[in-house]
Amino acid sequence: MNWEFSYVIPSFLVLIIVMGYYYSLPRLPIRLNKVFLTIMIAEGLVIITDMISSWADNEYKLLPAWLLVALNTMFFITFHVRTYLFFEITLVLLRAFNLRSKLSVLLMKIPFILTELITIIGVYTGYVFYIDGTGYHRGPLHYIVYVCLYFYLGASFLYILKNWDRIRRRQERVSIISISVILLIGSFARILLPQLLLYDTFCLMAILVIYLSYGNPEFYLERRNMTFNNKALRTYIEENEGRGQYKILSFVLRDYHDLREIYGTVQMNQGIALISAYLKKNYPDFLEFYYQNGRFVLLGDKDMDWEDIHEELRHRFMLPWKSGNSELYLEAGFAYMDFEEGYTSADVVLNTITIMLEKANKLGDDYNILTDDDPLGEYEERLYLKRTMENAIDQKAVEVFLQPIIDAKKRTLVGAEALARIRDSEGNIVPPGAFIPIAEQNGRINQLGEQVFEKVCEFIADNEMDRMGMKFINVNLSPIQFMRSDLGRRFLTDTHKYGISPDKIHLEITEEAIIDDQLMDKQIQIMQKEGFKFVLDDYGKGYSNLNRLKKGPFINVKLDMEVVWDYCATQDHVIPMMVEAFKKMNFSITAEGIETEEMAVKMTEIGCDYLQGMLFSYPVPMDEFIRKYGKTDET
Ligand code: C2E
Ligand code: MG
Ligand code: MG
Repeated sequence: MNWEFSYVIPSFLVLIIVMGYYYSLPRLPIRLNKVFLTIMIAEGLVIITDMISSWADNEYKLLPAWLLVALNTMFFITFHVRTYLFFEITLVLLRAFNLRSKLSVLLMKIPFILTELITIIGVYTGYVFYIDGTGYHRGPLHYIVYVCLYFYLGASFLYILKNWDRIRRRQERVSIISISVILLIGSFARILLPQLLLYDTFCLMAILVIYLSYGNPEFYLERRNMTFNNKALRTYIEENEGRGQYKILSFVLRDYHDLREIYGTVQMNQGIALISAYLKKNYPDFLEFYYQNGRFVLLGDKDMDWEDIHEELRHRFMLPWKSGNSELYLEAGFAYMDFEEGYTSADVVLNTITIMLEKANKLGDDYNILTDDDPLGEYEERLYLKRTMENAIDQKAVEVFLQPIIDAKKRTLVGAEALARIRDSEGNIVPPGAFIPIAEQNGRINQLGEQVFEKVCEFIADNEMDRMGMKFINVNLSPIQFMRSDLGRRFLTDTHKYGISPDKIHLEITEEAIIDDQLMDKQIQIMQKEGFKFVLDDYGKGYSNLNRLKKGPFINVKLDMEVVWDYCATQDHVIPMMVEAFKKMNFSITAEGIETEEMAVKMTEIGCDYLQGMLFSYPVPMDEFIRKYGKTDET
């Protein structure tokens, strides 16, 4: 027989192009990619050995017999490897791999191993082929090639049938089945026209089908930043379900959608690309995913030291991200998860990431790491939080942390904001963002608010505020508390009990909370007469109504952190004008969320009277507050 190998040369070139493209992109370490890569390598080797051995068989007169034997044996060995790999990739695509036990994996390999053994023994026995004075001849066991081939093709079809219902998308079904159909047709072509080496080309066609429907690494990449995408995360977790322990540190760019509006899409995309590049460079041991909407996921094994990474990232986020000639000030909320061995399904993991990041987006930066031992549902967690909150209230164990408020010009302490904290059963602090909404929903906020108020009264009575330079302590009020008509009287009972003047306490109401409500208006009026002072909290967060402010009872306006951050990032004229207007209305102004000296300077420049934020101090327990600020005055 005269072999006609020139037909496969174009196939070989196409394969090289596919491989080159495949190699140029980051690939997810999943089984599909590993098997697909080996298939391409196997196909390359088969084509090469097929061409060389065909040429050698044609030129048998010129070459020694041992070389012909070696070349043909190598061809058969790689041929069977490829046969087996096509079966394996079919299983991977059917996601049937996880279902099979180690034993059945081994059993399914036996025909392949036997065929290879016979091929190798054939070198000595001439069962598969032999070389004599007239060249290459088929041996009595030559048809072993087809036995192996049809065994695995048959098995592929069986597995496809068995798993048919699991594959829902029509297109996916078509792709999977066409791989085996193409190979089947190719095998007929090989039987009918063996001298043309057509089967290699059919295998290449099957490879192209896999590539076009599954293998293209771009399917798993977010185009903007060439980081693995949602699909990649899901696929990776699904594949590793029940295998090994892994840890996830994720973070979300706070208020991502607003940021897009502020900075514009192009700049935000650049920012995201910068963050991705930073993660890839600094954490090469972990897998990085971009989980849409400003959410990033770092996935590592059980040795991942998430606390360190969190610290590093937190510090990095204090600096701007420079894109082009502008700077992006981005704020990240972090969430951490530890998934135990054999524990979670991909759905649970992905839902947990979503819920946790949703919370991280809302919570203050100082407590934004949430470790969740029970990610199995918001519901259970809410129940747990509710019980923790109710226990704390019942046992009068609501703690009050104080965060200093600083005179902007003198840089000295003038006041503090009281912020509620409770502890869970392990003594970990639960941030108010987690329990205030629940307390508001079931009305417990009234008791909670009173406890905070009373503890603040006690603090004022026990400490010489003047000596610390403190003029006031701010206490947050929920709008729900106003619904009690005796709120003022209750508070007055406390101030009398501790012998303090009500004007030492400034009550903060959030801008969102001031609704046009007669009862509320009346309450505020009464309480004002009783001597309480009011502060408008989180100004600029919701819709802002200057008219209502004019009528309102406020003495101070607190600019919301977001407003402050936006202004510090991209100075505009609106905020300075607003501050000026407030000052004309005789309000003093507090800037919240001051995290850097630069921000402090900027906000002071435009006329803010008071500053509050991490630059000066986190909210700290009362005793720590006294240690910090009580002493300095005495020395
Ligand atoms: P808020 O009244 O606007 O309090 C300021 C929040 O910003 C605090 O979060 C504080 O820890 C955080 N913060 C302060 N400086 C910085 C900074 O430089 N950077 C960042 N990223 N955050 C900073 P916290 O303590 O988690 O309180 C969250 C909210 O919970 C408060 O917002 C307030 O609305 C509410 N809350 C806290 N305690 C009480 C309470 O006793 N009663 C009621 N009704 N609400 C409360
Ligand atoms: Mg407040
Ligand atoms: Mg505030």
